[in-house]
Amino acid sequence: MSDVFMNTYHRLPVTFAKGEGAWLTDVNGKRYLDFTAGIAVNCLGHGYPALVKAIAEQAAKCNHVCNYYQSDVSVAFAEQLVAACVGMRKVFLGNSGAEANEGACKIARKYSLKKYGPGRHRIVTLQGSFHGRTITTLSATGQDKFHKDFGPFTEGFLFIPPGDQAALDRALDPASVAGLLIEAIQGESGILPQEDAYIKAAAKYCAERDILLMFDEIQCGVGRTGTFLACEGYGVKPDIVTLAKGLSGGVPVGAVLAGEKAADVFETSDHGSTFGGNPLAAAAGLVVLQTVNNPAFLKAISGKGEKIQATLKSWKHPAIKAVRGRGLMIGVDITTPAWPVLEAALAKGLLILSAGPNTLRFLPPYTITDGEIDQGLGILRETLG
Ligand SMILES: *Cc1c(COP(=O)(O)O)cnc(C)c1O
Repeated sequence: MSDVFMNTYHRLPVTFAKGEGAWLTDVNGKRYLDFTAGIAVNCLGHGYPALVKAIAEQAAKCNHVCNYYQSDVSVAFAEQLVAACVGMRKVFLGNSGAEANEGACKIARKYSLKKYGPGRHRIVTLQGSFHGRTITTLSATGQDKFHKDFGPFTEGFLFIPPGDQAALDRALDPASVAGLLIEAIQGESGILPQEDAYIKAAAKYCAERDILLMFDEIQCGVGRTGTFLACEGYGVKPDIVTLAKGLSGGVPVGAVLAGEKAADVFETSDHGSTFGGNPLAAAAGLVVLQTVNNPAFLKAISGKGEKIQATLKSWKHPAIKAVRGRGLMIGVDITTPAWPVLEAALAKGLLILSAGPNTLRFLPPYTITDGEIDQGLGILRETLG
């Protein structure tokens, strides 16, 4: 392992060189079945032909245009993205999830300031949430372990326990709160889907109190749960949605989308991003949208997810305590620490993730085949013993 990188990641001892479909190959030529998709990024798998072609052709044409101008491909991408996200009217393109959430927080604060004056700047988030690594998105992240060493943090965030409707009702104070930022399915802290009634209550309170309902769909969006946006599965209409990870299939991108209420909050010079939505990311994103935002494709994602959950449950394995998730976003609680299982699976040629100390997390590419699912689950079963 190279020690040239700063010590930020707990890395497993493997160096990858290339990939194809749901497979990655390391520098020694060993192949691994990928149940991670780069943490929900490589949603079409590795080397997806249409994606490779679009990136290569765009790179040859023009890979960047500054924000004094627009590019043909960025316009096409933005228009199709807005159309894919029900109820959204405008988009700001950036490069990452954290950047998208920063944009959402800025929009919520300005929306409230313009309409109600100062003092109504608070943003409510859930305990256990994960919203990013910048100072502000760490502030928004409802996990204490992230709130040390780097202070002072951005003020104005309030954390509430997920699932507690009374706490939600109390926290959403129309005198002090501008927005609610929420993962419909918490990713990093264990693949925890919120209850239907809870999300519906959140939508109702936000609408009644003119608090912006903002879904962080950076991990669960772009088809991952079997609908293009995970919040569609809850039947609610957000004011703001943030996307990143899978949106351009591996090329860095982030997006904050806004519906009727907040689409025109940002005025000229309020926000910006040098690389945001550049032609390379846009060309890749267009392929993702055209592939994923299709009823049959989305249905297949749900079907593959159901197959994985049903198989895991059918084992009745003593080490497996619970299986949950939606679509190809699946968490498995086990009786032992997750990390040694990741290491053992890696040695056997299967890449999986963890989400918390005792939860395995699977985020395979949407293009994974039934045969590959069986093969990967076979390796997992051997690993669990
Ligand atoms: C990954 C993630 C982020 C942060 O995205 P980056 O691109 O790493 O900045 C924010 N929210 C959720 C839900 C995520 O899964």
